Amino acid sequence: MLKNQDLQAVLEEINEEVQPLLSEGTVADYIPELAKVKQDKFGIHLLTLDDRSYSVGDCDERFSIQSISKVFMLAMAVGECRQNVYDRVNVEPSGDPFNSLVQLEYEQGIPRNPFINAGALVITDILLSNFPNARNEFIQYVNSLAGLKSINYNNAVAASEKKCGFKNAAMVNLMKSFGNIDNSVEDVLDLYFDFCSVEMSCQELAKAFRVFANHGKGLVDTRRYLTESQYKRIAAIMQTCGFYDEAGEFAFKVGLPGKSGVGGGIAAILPNEYSVVVWSPGLNEKGNSLAGMKALELFTTKTQTSIF
Ligand code: GLN
Repeated sequence: MLKNQDLQAVLEEINEEVQPLLSEGTVADYIPELAKVKQDKFGIHLLTLDDRSYSVGDCDERFSIQSISKVFMLAMAVGECRQNVYDRVNVEPSGDPFNSLVQLEYEQGIPRNPFINAGALVITDILLSNFPNARNEFIQYVNSLAGLKSINYNNAVAASEKKCGFKNAAMVNLMKSFGNIDNSVEDVLDLYFDFCSVEMSCQELAKAFRVFANHGKGLVDTRRYLTESQYKRIAAIMQTCGFYDEAGEFAFKVGLPGKSGVGGGIAAILPNEYSVVVWSPGLNEKGNSLAGMKALELFTTKTQTSIF
């Protein structure tokens, strides 16, 4: 539980401590449009369930949420579609990079989990089959989670990824050959790149993730986005699979369910207490924000909070 301490001062201390790390790491450039982001950006936003918020740095600047979007995709598929999503995607950590193809062939086209690319591509296929206009409905869903209206896709980022998304194309093709993709390869890829291109600030992501910290119940509205059991499962997958082949390290150092993206964002929750989002574009070799991981490690250490 959050103690009665000066949380603004905690965030400011963290901001100072991570400054030397901002020049380390590498901004993702395999999606050319992402390489334009300045490496020295850093922001944290903390939002509690009892409506206190604290921020530091560039926490109001929107960035490309990339794989953080996979949590929204899964929540929408599980909460809004009638089919059983977990028949088509497993829930085991992969221990491999987010864009790895190796397990897919010998596991017959069933991805290890929904938070690696292969898994999110299957979820995209499910959303495409279940909604007449999945692109519009998804962005409305994300806006609704955050209690906002202005969150949108970045078409330049999606187009930039489409031009060089060869591994994602390979995954969809392989899964289609095993019968685990219903729609056309092209349609699934286009929608997946759009989903990854959503732009949000730390503050906006914290609002959306606070719904997960609140067991899937809306705070701005009274909507129940997820049942208790659906929420529990998604939080468990964030805990075990949210950081690709660094999920163990994140649990060890930070101890919160969360999800990273190659845009340098990390969103995490302490159920019943808070959501916290950090952004720093320099990535470590596993594709997770280098200073962002450190900032969250410092945060849970200084506040003595974690799920354990
Ligand atoms: N759009 C990115 C990709 O498919 C998302 C990867 C990530 O954020 N880890 O490669």
